[in-house]
Amino acid sequence: MAPDSSFPRNASFALLRESQDTRVRTRLGGIYYLLAWLLTWGFSAAPAAMPLLGTLGSLFFAAMLALRWLHRLPPQQSDGCLRQWIDRHWALILTTSLGWGLTHAWVLLHPEFAPSRMIATLSTVAFSTAMAFNFPMRKARCVTAILLLYAPGLVALASQWASQEALAVTLGFYLSYLLLALTRSHREYHATLAMEQQLVDQRERFDQLSRTDSLTQLGNRLQFNGLFPSMVASARRQGTPLSLVLLDIDFFKRINDEHGHSSGDACLSDFAERMRRVFRRESDALLRLGGEEFGVLMPGATLDEASALAERFRAELASDGCELHGRRLPITASLGVGSFDPARDDSPEAFFKRVDDALYRAKSEGRDRLALAAPA
Ligand code: GH3
Ligand code: MG
Ligand code: MG
Repeated sequence: MAPDSSFPRNASFALLRESQDTRVRTRLGGIYYLLAWLLTWGFSAAPAAMPLLGTLGSLFFAAMLALRWLHRLPPQQSDGCLRQWIDRHWALILTTSLGWGLTHAWVLLHPEFAPSRMIATLSTVAFSTAMAFNFPMRKARCVTAILLLYAPGLVALASQWASQEALAVTLGFYLSYLLLALTRSHREYHATLAMEQQLVDQRERFDQLSRTDSLTQLGNRLQFNGLFPSMVASARRQGTPLSLVLLDIDFFKRINDEHGHSSGDACLSDFAERMRRVFRRESDALLRLGGEEFGVLMPGATLDEASALAERFRAELASDGCELHGRRLPITASLGVGSFDPARDDSPEAFFKRVDDALYRAKSEGRDRLALAAPA
């Protein structure tokens, strides 16, 4: 019995699924313990003569049912919280199991329950079967719950071996089947979980790929389209600065024409690498917006900070050029830089247009320069 050895590695997803499954399955099951008790007591020889026992049993199973219902998943779903929730929920499951196991033994041992013994025994079989199939997430705990349900009754039957031998042996056989079935459902549960985990990982990887430019490994236009409006919205909400730098390589067509398309590609990769070296803040989003046009979204950076970095980038590019097969090709870029102004930019598009206009100005004023976006 290695309960947690086959637990998937990515605990967050697995723990969330496990706690959700546990919650849904106990919510359904709890009421049957109360019903089984009411039937067992109600069909005993003289229920009216045992009002206290009937009430205590009903109160116990009703309380367990209520506790299961009320024990909701934690709102803050960190691994630690989920683990604690699962442990506590299992404590409720095990207490209910022990409660029923002792009830079953009591019923078997006391003659006034003779008419309803079959109800209690069938319920024990039903509860332990449900346990094996519904709670295979934790094997050791599930085995414990089944034993708590089963063992007291078996001991009671063993104490009346002469008359109960056949039932005790049959229940013993059924217990061994349940333990085998639990082993299989435990394996299947975790195999399904692992497969779902794989699908989630794959979806994340594809999502990431679809937002990444394959040549430069920068974010692509799709990434920009997702990020830009949300960064603008959060700058507006929180009143924090947001700067945008747009970069366009000058006369890039010539590089392709003179050195070939693959050299042009190498230049674009080199350009992106240079961007990564200059715009290094964790929060900076570096993007290839298309062809030889790039962008940097800089949340938290003022216009001064952004334009200082952008100017440094421009100057270094102009002096270093682009490294190509050990040779240096002269290359320059024009840049537009602007900072979001919530009072004047009434949409992300308006902000983008201001910076794009600045870039256009840098081009028309002679290239290899930086132009600041005009106030809106
Ligand atoms: P300007 O200074 O006005 O920006 O001139 P430009 O030549 O850089 O601009 P233009 O828009 O006329 O040409 C852009 C060129 O970029 C044309 C296109 O072949 C090239 N290009 C776009 N994407 C790629 C790419 O992925 N690889 C290569 N090698 N070239 C590309
Ligand atoms: Mg260009
Ligand atoms: Mg261009």
